Amino acid sequence: MTDHLQTLKYIKSDVLSIWVSSKEQTGLNEYFHPLEQCLKKRFGIVNMAFLSFEGNSLIPVEEMATLTIETKLNAVSWLMIEASFYQQRMVEIPYILKEKEAYSKMTDMVLFQVEGKNPIGVLLVEATDAWTDFMTSNYGEESIETLTKVLQLMRENYEVKVNEDQYRKLYNMTDLFHSTMDIDLILENVLKNIKDNFPEFNVELILSNDQDRHTTIDIKLFDYLSERPATIEAFVSGELTTELASDLNCRVLNAPIKGRQAIYGILQVSAPTTYLFSTTEKDFVRMLAQTSGNALENAKLYHQSHRLVSDLQLINETSHRLNMRIGINEMLLFLQKQLMKSFQPMEVCFAFKHNDTFEVTDASTALFNTEKGQTFIKHVEQHFKSTNDPLFIADFSRLTPTHIEYRSIMAIPILMEEKINGFSIVLHKEPYFFSFDSFKLMQSLIHHSSLAIANSILRHQLQEMVDLDHLTKLYARSYLDKYVEKSLINDQSGMFLLIDIDNFKRVNDTYGHQIGDKILMQIAVQLKEMIGARGICARWGGEEMSVYVPNIDEKEAIELAEEIVAVIPNTTDPRVTISAGLITWDELYRPAFQSVFLHADTALYEAKNSGKNRFCMHDRPYKIN
Ligand code: GH3
Ligand code: MG
Ligand code: MG
Repeated sequence: MTDHLQTLKYIKSDVLSIWVSSKEQTGLNEYFHPLEQCLKKRFGIVNMAFLSFEGNSLIPVEEMATLTIETKLNAVSWLMIEASFYQQRMVEIPYILKEKEAYSKMTDMVLFQVEGKNPIGVLLVEATDAWTDFMTSNYGEESIETLTKVLQLMRENYEVKVNEDQYRKLYNMTDLFHSTMDIDLILENVLKNIKDNFPEFNVELILSNDQDRHTTIDIKLFDYLSERPATIEAFVSGELTTELASDLNCRVLNAPIKGRQAIYGILQVSAPTTYLFSTTEKDFVRMLAQTSGNALENAKLYHQSHRLVSDLQLINETSHRLNMRIGINEMLLFLQKQLMKSFQPMEVCFAFKHNDTFEVTDASTALFNTEKGQTFIKHVEQHFKSTNDPLFIADFSRLTPTHIEYRSIMAIPILMEEKINGFSIVLHKEPYFFSFDSFKLMQSLIHHSSLAIANSILRHQLQEMVDLDHLTKLYARSYLDKYVEKSLINDQSGMFLLIDIDNFKRVNDTYGHQIGDKILMQIAVQLKEMIGARGICARWGGEEMSVYVPNIDEKEAIELAEEIVAVIPNTTDPRVTISAGLITWDELYRPAFQSVFLHADTALYEAKNSGKNRFCMHDRPYKIN
């Protein structure tokens, strides 16, 4: 009796010293080993085994550290054993265990289980006399009780430690995630964490397609068509799935990267087929994926709201500027700048319809005036022949067999009263350069500008209508006046030629007014051709026209006047001659605005009176030399 009490005390003291020295131990396995030594020493036992309870199976404690499918298959189900302990905690080893070679010598089986909790495991022993003697004594039950309590504490302690490790990792990650809106940083950390935890396994981030294009992180795009069913299931259901992928020779764990609003992808861990993920491991992967899902969502929402704000600012700024009644050229240059700033294209074009063809404006980059650029204009033009819908091409090289330098294209129509009046194109050499968001924004930007552009064009046309004479399309008198007045102030020199058709009354009387009008138009065309961009031609009134050329010296002016008088009879049908009055000015002689016309008129009168079909020149009040 006292011996047994003494043994119990020894056992308790052994257990205490195991406990005290157990702080750094990492698995139940290592708790069990000293315990085994203690029992072997006390009772002279040779054969002993401990089966740990794990997910309804009893697994040899040595194998707990690396669970494999074989372990699991060889494991004994707890359900088969449970009934043996109906009344006692120490029973004879059941046949199902006894028949296994490893346990064939064992005789007794002891259950360690705290009431109301999962079992910790069972101990198998080949009984010795000392063992049987002690266990059947009054102290046997108490020793089991003690060992159970200690094992339970050890197991809980171990679980706390494992959880603590994982929670610390999760905490550190969450902490980082709360302090960043950098999507790349988040993804990078998820990958790093999971790889740290499963260094032997292959880890992959599979993200759905709405990610921002530019990421340096090694991710795979989620593809509904080629993803494995278990992966799709995890993505759709938001639940963790596992799959034994024999074709890939691995076991795959899929954890959904889930936020509150959506599922963004899958965190996939592939292990050898023989590996089994423990409940703790699954929990860890699940929590990690979830944490990253939330972080990713926050970052996305943050970026989205930023983008929306800047998009609105851009549209607002543009509208504001366009409503300032600036000219069409200035307006398009401003828009070009905005497009460059917002979408970083390599080329920008604005083209407008002019007599059924689209003409490239000066607000376009140089490419569009080359043959290469024309390819794109033609393509876009063709597109807008059948639809008003904007054009978005992610990779133009897919549409044509010929080599294409610019592969990303966006083209937005510029509408005027529902009809296509022009379009804007942006290009980039890299395929998939413009995001769909950019496309939407450009559409919005052009749409908001369309009205201002249309107004500006209309204003321009209206101004032209006021400035141009209806019949001859020469400038009207009012425009000429302004032009000459400015030139007299700003330019170095100039000439003014006042022209009157000879005997025009007779032409009218002979051929009729309509023919008379035709002659007026013929002369107008001829004058415009001769003067070009050097100066302007205007209709002075009736059958009188005028030419004004700034920055021209007297000699050239005389030559030009001679030429005009000589050419007109040859370019009119019925043929008419003209008389003209010329006045020139320069730094030395700068007449007042009104006297320019007066002196030219006087010179014209002189030409008429001296035989017509000629020009006379206003004599300067003084001459040099
Ligand atoms: P002169 O050589 O002295 O200039 O003789 P003229 O017959 O041309 O005389 P004048 O310049 O006085 O006559 C102007 C005529 O030009 C009067 C009018 O019949 C004609 N005329 C003026 N404006 C138009 C017009 O818009 N169309 C046509 N067909 N005739 C016009
Ligand atoms: Mg006249
Ligand atoms: Mg006349």
